[in-house]
Amino acid sequence: MPILIIEDEKKLVDILKRALKGERYSVDVAYDGETGLEKGMKNTYSMIILDIMLPKKDGFAVCKELRARQIHTPIIMLTARGSTEDRVLGLDAGADDYLIKPFGINELFARIRAVLRRRKTTDANIIKVADLLLDKKKHEVTRAGNVISLTPKEYKLLDILLSSHGEAITRRKLIDHAWGPDFRESNNELNVHIAYLRTKIGKGGAKALVHTIRGVGFVLKE
Ligand code: CA
Repeated sequence: MPILIIEDEKKLVDILKRALKGERYSVDVAYDGETGLEKGMKNTYSMIILDIMLPKKDGFAVCKELRARQIHTPIIMLTARGSTEDRVLGLDAGADDYLIKPFGINELFARIRAVLRRRKTTDANIIKVADLLLDKKKHEVTRAGNVISLTPKEYKLLDILLSSHGEAITRRKLIDHAWGPDFRESNNELNVHIAYLRTKIGKGGAKALVHTIRGVGFVLKE
């Protein structure tokens, strides 16, 4: 997937283009904000390098409109030297990172790699609380990088607890999810499985993440 450069300084665009192509990135260019926004909406890019001072539409507006249209392509903004306000505005507008002009090409490459790396870990298939991570695609759970082996029921319980982003889940909902709606507890099964789960994800004195809410159910949070 190409990188889109939205920048009106032709000289800088040429330098960036040559450097990125040298690193085997393919490149597309827009020389004003409106064209950049159109391209960003129409095509799929791995990354957008977005200048702030642009003809027709500035970088903040372009960034905001892309995000408002649910386009989550990583964006690195180019800001003028020392303008703290620009940096804050850029990040508020939904940019992933910023680079202060003038910058070295190696710094740009480092930022590109860092943003792409960060994006990988915010994949929708990965849910993370503290150092506990569940990868739905791989069907794998890790804590501090160590793989934890769970039974199917424990996995289902952890999945729903993690997916609720810190909201309490009722006992009934947990049972429905792990056993099915027709299941009636006879031996306190839910508590037993939650206890197993707690032991497995709390190995080695790791901070407790699953908390009981009396009379309601459970919550997973830091
Ligand atoms: Ca400019």
